Amino acid sequence: MNLSSTIFDRSAPDLGSCPDESLPEFAFIGRSNVGKSSLLNMLTGQKNLARVSPTPGFTKLINFFTVSKCWRLVDLPGYGFAQVARKDKARFNAAVGDFLEHRPNLLGLFVLIDSRLPPQKIDLEFLEWLACISAPIVLVFTKTDKVSPTKLRANIEAFTARLSEWYPVLPEIFTSSSVTRQGRNELLGVIETALSACRAEEPAKSDQPPLDAAIPPEDPPAIARKVIAGDARARRPNPARPW
Ligand code: GDP
Repeated sequence: MNLSSTIFDRSAPDLGSCPDESLPEFAFIGRSNVGKSSLLNMLTGQKNLARVSPTPGFTKLINFFTVSKCWRLVDLPGYGFAQVARKDKARFNAAVGDFLEHRPNLLGLFVLIDSRLPPQKIDLEFLEWLACISAPIVLVFTKTDKVSPTKLRANIEAFTARLSEWYPVLPEIFTSSSVTRQGRNELLGVIETALSACRAEEPAKSDQPPLDAAIPPEDPPAIARKVIAGDARARRPNPARPW
């Protein structure tokens, strides 16, 4: 999969400013400093596509990049940053929340976790909320070049043990390093598989007989979400946003 044609589309401060919903999207999110910009640059092979932040919280807007005019990468603001004015923090978190809850063409959400750390409260709270909204998530443990294999395994195990409280079926888990490029092919494979599954569903839909007016048409978001997520997230605890 070649992402060298990736181009910046726009930065959106809220859901209403996002591009139209015609293209499938894959979004990336994580705590500030988790390595999201570096990962996006590594995946696309473009050194400066997403800025690598000098200070936590540098990326504040929802940034859209179009790949081969066919699909989009979405760089979501990091959560948990402290150095942003309170009102900005509220605003951007609301925008991200709206995006994750209401974006019908979101095919996959890559949630980045720092592999060097034991489970962090803020990540766990965020993942609990994602379970509530049935977001189509994939977990990526970043910066693996900075951690021993034993510690990496222990941190992932501790994390997934907590996740099983909200995810009856665990999401797919990957590891990555922007330094060694570890995980690149696997993550691009996830995107490729989801795009193929999405394309395969399109002709199937047109084969179907016209829907009776009494039967509501299947919700496109639901179709998109099944591609990555399966029906893994049955449980819906308190949907209040924790962040
Ligand atoms: P963001 O705030 O999540 O976008 O994080 P950045 O991509 O800006 O990275 C934050 C810091 O971590 C920078 O100093 C990066 O050079 C460093 N970093 C990011 N990814 C890796 C990685 O895989 N390995 C190592 N060793 N450092 C990384």
